[in-house]
Amino acid sequence: TCPFGCGDLKKMSREDFDVLVIGAGPGGYVCAIRCAQLGMKVGLVEKNPRLGGTCLNVGCIPSKALLHSTEVYHELIHGAQAHGIVAKGISHDLSVLMQRKDKVVDQLGKGVSSLVKAKGATILSGMARLLGEGQVEVTESEGKTKVFKAKEIVLATGSKPTELPFLPFDGKVVVSSDQGIALERVPKKLVVVGGGAIGLELGCVWSRLGAEVTVVEFLSEICPQLDPEVAKTARKILEKQGLRFMLSTKVSSAQVTKTRATLSLDGPEGQSELSVDRVLVAVGRGPFTDGLGLEEVGLQQDERGRVSVNQSFQTNVTGIRAIGDLIHGPMLAHKAEEDGVACAEILAGQAGHVDYSMVPGVIYVDPEIANVGMSESMAKDRGIAVNCGSFPLAANGRALATGCTDGLVKVVADKKTDQLLGVQVVARIASAVAHMEYGGSAEDLARTIHAHPTLSESLKEAALGADGRGLHSL
Ligand code: FAD
Repeated sequence: TCPFGCGDLKKMSREDFDVLVIGAGPGGYVCAIRCAQLGMKVGLVEKNPRLGGTCLNVGCIPSKALLHSTEVYHELIHGAQAHGIVAKGISHDLSVLMQRKDKVVDQLGKGVSSLVKAKGATILSGMARLLGEGQVEVTESEGKTKVFKAKEIVLATGSKPTELPFLPFDGKVVVSSDQGIALERVPKKLVVVGGGAIGLELGCVWSRLGAEVTVVEFLSEICPQLDPEVAKTARKILEKQGLRFMLSTKVSSAQVTKTRATLSLDGPEGQSELSVDRVLVAVGRGPFTDGLGLEEVGLQQDERGRVSVNQSFQTNVTGIRAIGDLIHGPMLAHKAEEDGVACAEILAGQAGHVDYSMVPGVIYVDPEIANVGMSESMAKDRGIAVNCGSFPLAANGRALATGCTDGLVKVVADKKTDQLLGVQVVARIASAVAHMEYGGSAEDLARTIHAHPTLSESLKEAALGADGRGLHSL
């Protein structure tokens, strides 16, 4: 039943909605689907011609397509021989590789549009701006403007790459991940500023294709969310694959010409210079609120520009909620989706909730680096006494059989209660065995956040399907 009283719907003009979701990334389109499932009349506004947001257009999906293609190439050159496979004269065609990636993105984009429509949400193409009092102005690409009214508005406008003030993106020599997934040729020398997930993934893509890649990281180790021991293991594996790391090193200034960049670096050994033909700046992402009219309606933002919300995703302005990368929490597609579902359920009077301490994170290099919950150091920082167990992949039979012996698994448990507090993995491991072991239900599985994009998401969808509420199946 419609939480707003469906009788009202009859009185509405065609342009009025129960809920208007702004932004069709994984947060927004999933929120719209769930609202429609719960009987609400929902509109989904998107400024890009293709739905799917950062994730589908310039994030998760294209990066994973590139990671897979380059992994196949790398394996043929470096791994095939050990299996007795003779692969001679292997080369790559970058344009075909990019075309494949674009095809994947296009196919998935069409799929998301059909899904959203089939679920009953109305897609409104254009740039949305808040007008206050439940009104949203949508400017279409030809400049035509329409005003829509909604009882509730959900902001899901996502994020954009963070720029360094002395190293602004020019889209040619200094690029963000948006261009880093679509370079027209393999750089000879590429410097990646930032040793987080995006920097490592794209660094691996271009390194596998032949670029000399240096990752410059300000902190003393890559991936601060990981235990130092796990992060070091991962870094050593990537070093073996050809990536070079400069840790505890700050880029202090840069000189950029039309074809090259020279970076001044401040590191443990003093000052140095690095001259490269491409710089990929991957130092993080910030909320995207351009043209949304937040100031006009008096919406509160935190010190990082994110929209401030309470546990019900409610902003300081009645009738406006926000989800996904735009608010606090890890900037991940599956977190945005869970926000979207919980927000829709709260709007329907249900008890939507997201446990941010249980959001898994995966870096899709080879082997994958995954973590959920607390690391040993995080637990210690919080004064929690822990027992840890770790197991090297080199001692695992399947790892030996497949030649994937680089890696480890680490488990962190509460010393007093033995409750599992965190798991960190440098390997391709995903399992639902624990759910069954503990007598978990389909609902438990459906409520568990699965990292995106992984095969294990199908497990979650199947569990949702058992209750007739699959989000990505018809
Ligand atoms: P977004 O996906 O950013 O979507 C926001 C949408 O709002 C966009 O479509 C935008 O056009 C639209 N919009 C903005 N303003 C307006 C307006 N005023 N009017 C109308 N429309 C508007 N996450 C993972 O979980 N796994 C990964 O493997 C992964 N890989 C990534 C790789 C890269 C290179 C990058 C950049 C990101 C990656 N991410 C990954 C992060 C993931 O893409 C984001 O966390 C996710 O897309 C956030 O979803 P969202 O719905 O909050 O926002």
